[in-house]
Amino acid sequence: MSERIEILLDEDTVDAKVKEIGELISRDYEGEEVHMICILKGGVYFMTELSKRVTVPVSMDFMAVSSYGAGTESTGRVKIIKDLDDPVEGKNVLIVEDIVDTGRTLTNLKALLKQRNPKSIKICTLLDKPDRRVVEMKADYTCFEIPNEFVVGYGLDYAQKYRNLPYIGIVKFDEE
Ligand code: 5GP
Repeated sequence: MSERIEILLDEDTVDAKVKEIGELISRDYEGEEVHMICILKGGVYFMTELSKRVTVPVSMDFMAVSSYGAGTESTGRVKIIKDLDDPVEGKNVLIVEDIVDTGRTLTNLKALLKQRNPKSIKICTLLDKPDRRVVEMKADYTCFEIPNEFVVGYGLDYAQKYRNLPYIGIVKFDEE
């Protein structure tokens, strides 16, 4: 089997939307500072591009998490693989994520970070697959709602490949 990538959202479309969301965030946080938290690794490309479009002062930090498997999801916890370097207390936290799928990761992560007393906490996602939702979760900023397909590019991987694609594509498998 070989795989090919079918373009879902091309580079110009993604860039234009990221710029638009960056401008919206700049307006919403007028007179404030925003502390962006990138969820590794998928959120890296989105956060760097988004932050370039934000005109209020930006600071940033990075976190890697994994959600517990199906058996323990009701406990509502995330496993921290890499924690933040700095405290979030008193800051306007903006979690920057690649994609919301079932909604478990962000629901749990938001609850965890809330316990650290930020001034405010919001979520910004590049992609959203609303059809896949298991836990009710609505991001404050969403660039694109997409169908229930496995996508790569702009930070998202398939077996650690394709993160560097400048567009969003669907992975298709061809019989050889
Ligand atoms: P959930 O919302 O289910 O807790 O998990 C979201 C995470 O699942 C994302 O951060 C991402 O790592 C992974 N994920 C969900 N859908 C996709 C997809 O279509 N492509 C890729 N590459 N990862 C996905």
